[in-house]
Amino acid sequence: SVTPVTVLGLGAMGSALSTAFLDGGHPVTVWNRTPAKAGPLTARGAVAAADPREAVRAADLVVLCVLDYAAAYDTLGAVGDALNGRALVHLTNGTPAQAREFAQWATQRGAHYVDGGIMSTPPMIGDSGSLVLYSGDRTGFDAHRSTLERLGAARWLGSDPGAAALHDIALLSGMYGLFAGHLHAAALIASEGGSVTEFTTELLIPFLERMMVPMKYSSREIDSGEFADQEASIAMQATAFVNIIESTAAQGVDPALLIPMRDLYHRAAAEGRDPSELLAKKAGR
Ligand code: NDP
Repeated sequence: SVTPVTVLGLGAMGSALSTAFLDGGHPVTVWNRTPAKAGPLTARGAVAAADPREAVRAADLVVLCVLDYAAAYDTLGAVGDALNGRALVHLTNGTPAQAREFAQWATQRGAHYVDGGIMSTPPMIGDSGSLVLYSGDRTGFDAHRSTLERLGAARWLGSDPGAAALHDIALLSGMYGLFAGHLHAAALIASEGGSVTEFTTELLIPFLERMMVPMKYSSREIDSGEFADQEASIAMQATAFVNIIESTAAQGVDPALLIPMRDLYHRAAAEGRDPSELLAKKAGR
């Protein structure tokens, strides 16, 4: 398909998005606050618009990817009625609340608003491993799905415009939890002069891969609210945390990353609850 596309915002990410559309043979119109950044793209056949309004009017599919929501409102604030009837796919990173508010703003101007979360770095855009999450206006998404798939796999998450941002944040939370575990484990191995590379490659990564099985199992428990063997297993893990923190301190390693986990497991053991229930409670649910 050769659907024309407009891309607003040509930072590292917006430039990568534009390049992927050009690679797919789409006519691409671009706009950026600092016009010079359009240079490499116009050299490849993109058309640079003079202002956001002109850019929006050039295509039925408008992709917006700027620094933050303040920049997004700045960019589209003066386009008037130009969004009416067009699909606006907003890939700027933000919170679910920001996405929902922006959806309302764009819908009032007649746009089919689709919010997105990019789970790839700029060099990955267009590769087979690239993933983008979408939610919001189904009509807008369906009309342009094949074009959006130029950026990577497209995962639809439903009509709540905040859903893509929520899943984006959840995936990043999982990633940073994993990174925290790796940083802590690496510090323990390095404290005895061991090779972190060898430890990570030969032991930690294969071990973590096996731990994905209990993670799936506990996910089903969280969904059902029924926790099998809860007290024994949580009490055992709470005790193991005492050893982890004590050994960490003895190795001269800062236990800061795991202390909140120890505290959570201790409270869960004391209250006879699953740790997941305490987290939900703390958020006031
Ligand atoms: P950059 O810092 O490279 O680019 C920022 C862009 O925002 C530029 O086009 C800049 O314009 C524009 N901008 C900033 N303020 C304004 C404003 N007030 N009005 C108009 N335009 C403005 O960031 P990225 O391209 O890397 O990131 C863009 C979005 O993509 C972010 O929300 C980011 O979280 C998300 N993202 C980025 C990833 C990455 O690895 N880079 C990965 C996943 C998501 P100008 O050139 O004039 O300064």
